[in-house]
Amino acid sequence: MSERRCSTCGSSAYESRLVEYVYRHDRNYLIMRDVPAQVYTVCGTRFYRAEVLEEIERRFFAIYREAREPERSIEVPVEVYQPT
Ligand SMILES: [Zn+2]
Repeated sequence: MSERRCSTCGSSAYESRLVEYVYRHDRNYLIMRDVPAQVYTVCGTRFYRAEVLEEIERRFFAIYREAREPERSIEVPVEVYQPT
């Protein structure tokens, strides 16, 4: 097993999980579910295999440039931070 250490906490303990990934490009977003990631158990920092990130990017551009229908869409509220 290769020792890959977290650049945040230095731990080498991680596990494979399916996570939600938010891809943003300019002002467009894609929420990708069930993305395979490796997650450091101490601090929660995630890392992804390069081909996983490439696939997310491919889907993003298929939706925004080729008008491919996503599985579903949601509306997301936007607010400007102001202390109350
Ligand atoms: Zn860490």
